[in-house]
Amino acid sequence: MSTALQVIDPEGGLPAALVERLDAAAARSASTGRPDETLTAELGQAGLFGVAVPAAYGGFGGDATLVNHVVAEVARVNPSAAIMLFQHYAVSARIDEWGDEAQQARLLPALAKGDLLAASGWSEPGVGAAKKRLNTTAQRLPDGRWRLDGAKSFTTSAGVAGLYLILARTSDSVDESSSGYGSDGQTFFLVPAGDEGLRPDLSLDLIGMRGSATGFVSLHGCVVGDEDRLGPVGEATRIIATVRRTGATLGAVSLGIAAALLDLTVEQIKRRRQPPDGVTCFRLVDLATRIEATRAVIDRAGRRDAADPGLATLHSKLFATETAEQVGVEVARLLGSAGYVVANRINGLMADARAVAHMGPTNDLCRELVSATWLG
Ligand SMILES: Cc1cc2nc3c(=O)[nH]c(=O)nc-3n(C[C@H](O)[C@H](O)[C@H](O)COP(=O)(O)OP(=O)(O)OC[C@H]3O[C@@H](n4cnc5c(N)ncnc54)[C@H](O)[C@@H]3O)c2cc1C
Repeated sequence: MSTALQVIDPEGGLPAALVERLDAAAARSASTGRPDETLTAELGQAGLFGVAVPAAYGGFGGDATLVNHVVAEVARVNPSAAIMLFQHYAVSARIDEWGDEAQQARLLPALAKGDLLAASGWSEPGVGAAKKRLNTTAQRLPDGRWRLDGAKSFTTSAGVAGLYLILARTSDSVDESSSGYGSDGQTFFLVPAGDEGLRPDLSLDLIGMRGSATGFVSLHGCVVGDEDRLGPVGEATRIIATVRRTGATLGAVSLGIAAALLDLTVEQIKRRRQPPDGVTCFRLVDLATRIEATRAVIDRAGRRDAADPGLATLHSKLFATETAEQVGVEVARLLGSAGYVVANRINGLMADARAVAHMGPTNDLCRELVSATWLG
């Protein structure tokens, strides 16, 4: 059985050697704030890049259940690597759904094989989570190509990725009235890292997700062909709207973080000279129960068998992120002073847990999207 197949087996966790490698990389990045230099290449070689790519292009053809499972397993050891993989899977899936045959044949085999890591550059400084009035523009040149100018912030895998899915404004029309993500007149472009006009910048010093290479990406006179446009001109919102119906959820990252927080706490409590008292044991069981409930919600989102799979996906993110944050607060209390030292990994995991709530769609945007479904 290959490494990736072991990951895919719901009974099997990650192979021990990979866990060790992810763990060492997480510990190093926690102090340096930089991504591990070779980790992504190793994850690619282990077969993890191809989870969301169809088998016809050399991937595993995984559905949302599989994506969520792999992401949660990786997050249990290294949440930064998990968000990098999540973005990679998301871009792979968008190319599979919206790319034309030439784009699929050109990109999907490399995305599956591990030769190419994909990132998403949608967010911008000062633009807000709903990304309505983007400053990044894409202008059509007389020869049919496009010129992109602007700046993206909080792009995960900046400088590590080989391909960026960039959201840009291709017309001035902005529909401020509609709730939700994006606006009319926005278009997606697939920009290779080698483009002279694209510059990553890793100067963001984050309190969590410190190995995720989340940084800025600037675009100055970045020229791409029309064959690099993903989906119809001005209709990126159609692509964005389908994303949340896929069942793949960042809540899987939170699930992995919550499980890691509990594992670490149980381990540390077991090492105490005194066995834990009954109250501590009961609290740990309550946390484990909450994590099991989260797993069920994530599984339901992945199966897409709810009456409204989009709502189930949004609920899963809200529930999982809140679980991870609550588990963090509770285990910090249980560990007492021993938990209040920088070297205790629960603190890094708590910061990682906060990040997921801020990632798109942010939790407040999830609430807005859910309430819009009810209230119109
Ligand atoms: C670790 C990490 C990784 C990320 N990776 C990526 C990535 O790979 N690609 C990418 O494109 N983005 C990424 N992001 C960005 C993320 O997707 C968010 O969209 C982005 O950070 C903007 O969200 P915001 O919370 O700053 O939005 P804002 O909309 O500015 O919200 C900030 C706060 O203001 C409140 N608020 C907003 N509007 C109003 C209002 N009208 N009235 C009252 N309150 C309001 C919100 O509730 C929120 O609490 C990442 C973020 C993090 C933290």
